[in-house]
Order: sequence, then structure tokens, then C-alpha cells
Amino acid sequence: MSVSYGDSSTMDDTPGTPAARNEARALRQRLESLGAAGVTGLPKTGARPPRKRSEGVPTAPVSRESLLNLLRDEVAGCNRCAPLARTRTQTVFGTGSPTARLCFLGEAPGADEDASGVPFVGRAGQLLTKIIEACTLRREDVYILNVLKCRPPDNRTPLPEETANCRGYFERQLEIIAPEFICCLGTTAAQALLQTEETIGRLRKTWFAWRSSQVICTYHPSYLLRNPAAKREVWDDMKLLMDRLGVKL
Ligand code: URA
Repeated sequence: MSVSYGDSSTMDDTPGTPAARNEARALRQRLESLGAAGVTGLPKTGARPPRKRSEGVPTAPVSRESLLNLLRDEVAGCNRCAPLARTRTQTVFGTGSPTARLCFLGEAPGADEDASGVPFVGRAGQLLTKIIEACTLRREDVYILNVLKCRPPDNRTPLPEETANCRGYFERQLEIIAPEFICCLGTTAAQALLQTEETIGRLRKTWFAWRSSQVICTYHPSYLLRNPAAKREVWDDMKLLMDRLGVKL
């Protein structure tokens, strides 16, 4: 079966409720992404006769990069948190290597990230870059993402329902990359990933498991900007992490 993906610019008159229109738009974006990724047909749903071995099932592996690009497009069309979707300049998906061994998970984009579409580029981001470089790594070697993909107004802490709405996104992102290590930056990231209400102070210095990844938690760089004395503790956490990564400091 071949699929025509249509032209989203001509399809704004979709009938139905706003929710149905959003779903229709997300589906259109997904089909367009699939088309861009070279997918030209989709199977019909429902039962189908078993395939003979000789029928030649396509076996080309789908790269993590193309899966992330599909997810990025889906996130870009998200309207689950209507107020955030209305006020964002753009969604902020993630950046870095799709095959990174280490992911840094932050809280949510701030003003600089909302403007640029790149996570951790403001003052806290520059401090994170310094921390990564002090570990003898580069930003391109790791992958950086946030729990929320939209900027909360006035940089307020994400609401529980916003985190719940974004859970499917950051979890799928991490499942695609399947890093060996995840470093949660601050309370929001640690509590969201580990689904706990424990404070960051109590979550530090302990290894957790999430899917196939080993997880460590440390203070958020924004906290370090307000409390420079805590840099020492973050450095202790990085030493634990680099030791397991096999990076000599
Ligand atoms: N703080 C975060 O948690 N994420 C960013 O991208 C920037 C600041």
C-alpha cells in the first residue's frame, strides 16, 4: 500500500474538536517524518496472513539518529500542555551524540534555550559545559536533554501534570539512545526519572538503575550558580561517574 502524506499547509480545515485536530496534526507530522525517512508505505492494521520467509522482510536497521528525528518532529507538534505550547518559541528536544554513553538530564528550557532550541546554552548551560570539559569530555560526546521540552513561564518548576505529559518523550528519547549512564541534574530530573519524592541531597552518591542505564544524581548547575560552594560536591559526583565510565581524571 502506498501512502500519500499530503501537504499540511493545505489541511488546516480539519473538522472536529481542538483535541482531534491536534491529534490529526501530530499524525500528519509523523507521516511526513516517516516519508522524509524514506518510508513509502504502511501496513494495514488488523490480522494479516503470515509472511513467508522468502518474502523479503526489510532488514535495514533504523539508526538511533533517525528515530530521534522522528520523535523530535512529534515533540515539535505537541500541544498537551496548552499554556506552554502557546507561550513557547519552539520545543527544545535535545542535543549531542545519539550513541552517547552518557546522557545529562536537566529540568526544562529557560529563556536562552527557548530562543535557540538548544538545551543548556544559558548561564547554567555554560557551567554544565565547563563541568563536561573538566571531565575531559566534549558536549558532542554526550547527549543533553530535559524532562520538559517547553519553557515554563518565568522558569518556574515544572508542574506534575507537565512532567507526566512529557514523560513519554524523555523516556523514549533515553530508550532510543540507551546510554550506559544517565546523570540527573537536580531534583526535578532525578525525581522524574526515578519516580521518587526523595530530595536530591539524599539521592546523590547512590547508583540507581533505569532500563539498561546506571543513574547518578547531582546538583543542578543553576543551584551551583547560587551556591558555588556546592561545586565541590558536584565534582565528587563527577569523579564517581567518570570512574565507572573509565575516564581517568
Ligand atoms: N536548565 C535546565 O534544566 N535545562 C536547560 O536546558 C537550561 C537550564
